[in-house]
Amino acid sequence: MPDIAIIGAGPTGLIAAERLSARGHGVTVYDQMPSPGRKFLMAGRGGLNLTHSEPPDAFLRRYLPATPMMARALDGFPQHALTAWCEGLGQPVFTGSSGRVFPRAMKAAPLLRAWLRRLDDQGVRFAARHRWRGWDSAGALCFASPLGEVHATPRATLLALGGASWPRLGSDGGWVPALRDAGLRIAPLRASNCGVCVAWSEVFTARFEGTPLKRIALSVGGQAVRGEAMITRDGLEGGAVYALSGPIRAALDKAVPAVLHVDLRPDIGRAALAARTDGARQGRSLGNFLRQSANLPPVAIGLVQEALHASVAHETLSDLIKALPVAVTRTQPVARAISTAGGIETDELDEHLMLRRRPGVFAAGEMVNWDAPTGGYLLQACFSLGVLAAEGIARILETDPHGGAG
Ligand SMILES: Cc1cc2nc3c(=O)[nH]c(=O)nc-3n(C[C@H](O)[C@H](O)[C@H](O)COP(=O)(O)OP(=O)(O)OC[C@H]3O[C@@H](n4cnc5c(N)ncnc54)[C@H](O)[C@@H]3O)c2cc1C
Repeated sequence: MPDIAIIGAGPTGLIAAERLSARGHGVTVYDQMPSPGRKFLMAGRGGLNLTHSEPPDAFLRRYLPATPMMARALDGFPQHALTAWCEGLGQPVFTGSSGRVFPRAMKAAPLLRAWLRRLDDQGVRFAARHRWRGWDSAGALCFASPLGEVHATPRATLLALGGASWPRLGSDGGWVPALRDAGLRIAPLRASNCGVCVAWSEVFTARFEGTPLKRIALSVGGQAVRGEAMITRDGLEGGAVYALSGPIRAALDKAVPAVLHVDLRPDIGRAALAARTDGARQGRSLGNFLRQSANLPPVAIGLVQEALHASVAHETLSDLIKALPVAVTRTQPVARAISTAGGIETDELDEHLMLRRRPGVFAAGEMVNWDAPTGGYLLQACFSLGVLAAEGIARILETDPHGGAG
């Protein structure tokens, strides 16, 4: 029987396995998938953004309101510790012009390969195709495996089961009922860092689906973000939209549709723009006029025309260009999101991430209720929380050799 059962072979579970096995503990990592780190590998598809180089205070603010927990986690395993760890596995990193940090190889596969070799060398055992289903009446962990039901009674358990996005990669949120039955409060799992749905006209999508909206600013609920977005068949995707996931969810909770305002020329003040766009068109078509006076690209002109066709209330053209209202009907479903907001409420965990209601059982990573934008904040949080939980487990097993109760 292992000293420690870690359930979930994502970055959270694997870094905890590394830390605990390095201290001489017997660790078994269970996962329902046939191989570890599937979402980590997917994260590397578009460039594995490991962390961000911004100063610690600004970095921590990305996790509002879960900052006390994140402050402890980042204190124990800050950004430079993660990049040093990556380099220690033979994968040098670089910082992009945006401050985002990537392995030079960009992909996750070489890093994961080297990491799994290290875990193997440290004696970590993997139990693949083991789906955790909860605890039995005697308190043992129950797994469904190809060989039937398996039970385990480790001295300590780490739950690192991830959120509910991209369920085909293994994290499907199926753990929620087992933990609710155990009396834990769990905030509903909701899509974060995801696109939004907008009912564009046929004419607009036929012409602009797949077109980027560059150098715009988006705002909702008093929060504004500069960046880019992409027109999709049924809405908007892209960094600026993802960064507003929380405020968009909050606005949709109050009213449907929620209004997202697009500033199509954030680099020019309203008065200066008005002087160029609010005079007579002198016989020019609207498209030509907007192109010449406001230097708008075709997709931005298309958005203004959409608003005019929908008879959106406005006084001047510059009003529309600076704050074009887009009616968001919903976010994309959680299965298509990059990450999940919601999860185990942070006050269910003690300062080492042990479940207050279940001594000896810890929880970390995306299954805990925190949220952050893309930019490396998600993986950094998972690694730092995994390390914090590992330290908590080591503390109870090493201070009380008979302690724990998985
Ligand atoms: C397309 C995409 C791109 C991304 N890119 C980035 C990026 O560049 N930078 C960044 O910071 N973040 C990125 N992320 C987010 C990041 O990958 C996740 O936040 C991170 O993987 C979460 O780690 P985790 O260990 O908590 O959970 P996961 O990586 O989801 O791992 C959880 C594991 O638990 C297993 N599991 C779940 N339920 C059970 C069960 N009942 N029994 C047994 N096993 C179970 C799953 O199979 C899985 O292996 C991206 C995500 C996606 C989808």
